[in-house]
Amino acid sequence: MSGRYPGDPDFGGRIPRNGCCACYSDFTSVKLFDQHRVGKHAYSYAEGLDMTPSREDGRRCLDKYEMLALGWEQDENERWFDPVSVEAARKGFAELHGRPRSAREQDSDQAAG
Ligand SMILES: [Zn+2]
Repeated sequence: MSGRYPGDPDFGGRIPRNGCCACYSDFTSVKLFDQHRVGKHAYSYAEGLDMTPSREDGRRCLDKYEMLALGWEQDENERWFDPVSVEAARKGFAELHGRPRSAREQDSDQAAG
């Protein structure tokens, strides 16, 4: 193959990180990707509606408005992210690394053990 494939045309020419081949949405995390797929069963939502009687518990993707209703946002690459979990991760990281443990704290851990 010659040349470099610039991106996926289904994703507007971008290279998806956690792209969905059903709705062509892209997500910053696998967790969010998983959360946008709803429904219990292996058949698709459309297949479920075609059943007799019709069923609405088939797998489908949340649409844009449902994801917006969850508070999700899209970044500059049109990747969905959840600002709440991004902020929680930022805080957790700051708490973990923001306050270095003193040598005395480390010593007292060892003395207690
Ligand atoms: Zn999807």
